[in-house]
Amino acid sequence: MTAPEMGARPEPQSFERVLSSMCTEPIPEARDAAMRFLATNPGDPETYPGVAELEREVVEMLGTLVDLPDPKGYVTTGGTEANIQAVRAARNLANTDDPNVVGPASVHFSFQKAADILDVDLRLAPVGGDYRADVDAVTELVDGDTVLVVGVAGTTEYGRVDPIPALADVAHDADARFHVDAAWGGFVLPFTDEAWNFGDAAIDTMTIDPHKMGQAAIPAGGLLTTDESVLDALAVDTPYLETAGQASLTGTRSGAGVASAHAALTEQWPDGYRENYERGMTLATWLANAMQTRGYDVVEPHHPIVAIDLPAAIFEALTDEGWRLSRTAAGEVRVVMMPHVTREMLEAFLSDLDRQSR
Ligand SMILES: *Cc1c(COP(=O)(O)O)cnc(C)c1O
Repeated sequence: MTAPEMGARPEPQSFERVLSSMCTEPIPEARDAAMRFLATNPGDPETYPGVAELEREVVEMLGTLVDLPDPKGYVTTGGTEANIQAVRAARNLANTDDPNVVGPASVHFSFQKAADILDVDLRLAPVGGDYRADVDAVTELVDGDTVLVVGVAGTTEYGRVDPIPALADVAHDADARFHVDAAWGGFVLPFTDEAWNFGDAAIDTMTIDPHKMGQAAIPAGGLLTTDESVLDALAVDTPYLETAGQASLTGTRSGAGVASAHAALTEQWPDGYRENYERGMTLATWLANAMQTRGYDVVEPHHPIVAIDLPAAIFEALTDEGWRLSRTAAGEVRVVMMPHVTREMLEAFLSDLDRQSR
């Protein structure tokens, strides 16, 4: 291995061929805010009161997106932290020595991390043929030690929304809490007629990430709840800080992420996000048709994610040409219509694909 060249200015990748990511370029206002608030730490609100106030406002704005009038929560490092914290709060608030968490097999892999760290049993039920949680299969796994039931509003692989109101009932019938993971979907679903938010069902906690469809700089995730006791269940005493307790998982946190989320939400909610959704949906439908015309099987996009059954050799060839693609557990190529994805990009992708397929 050679040492990195000293003095060369490293450059990030371009988004020109990125079709796999759930993150995107921050809008200019979000990029600027991130730079201005780089040296702030919302983990220490007495010392950094300006960014702490921005964080309260971000939580308010996220509450508006998810139809939660009096939201409580904080800006996490991402969906992973928010999911871990939801499991942690549910475990701490429940009265069992042998806690379990139940959800569909389509939950994000962050729940595996949560289960491992928190020593809870993760029980995953097979999804239905529609790629959504099968309510009966979830119900079967729930018992007296279930502390949390999870539903996904916008699955990572297919963008599907679980039957959220029915899963809320399953959770509450078992005296468990109910968590909705809308890490990606939270900035898409407000423009659909899906039942996914706090206004649609008795949800206790939710994950929603400004650094995905929200067009904020990384790291900016969100944990929201109706209930102050969730944050109390997460808080530890903070002897050397002036504030009484800290609910976040990390200590020092990114003020850049918080300020960036604030700027993105201020600029884009609702019209900018609606346009992203509508553009993304148009592109998803267009790509799905173009692939079907070429004879490939496509998982029909309900939201701006398309999954295509491409032969492995073509996948490898396109990757070699610089296309950034990812695969579902079942092996389909998954294209996420993030705001940086354009019709021209997809046309270039198709022309490379056509060349490979000849
Ligand atoms: C991306 C994603 C996560 C994880 O979020 P990070 O910000 O990558 O930690 C969790 N859940 C869902 C549904 C996701 O799409």
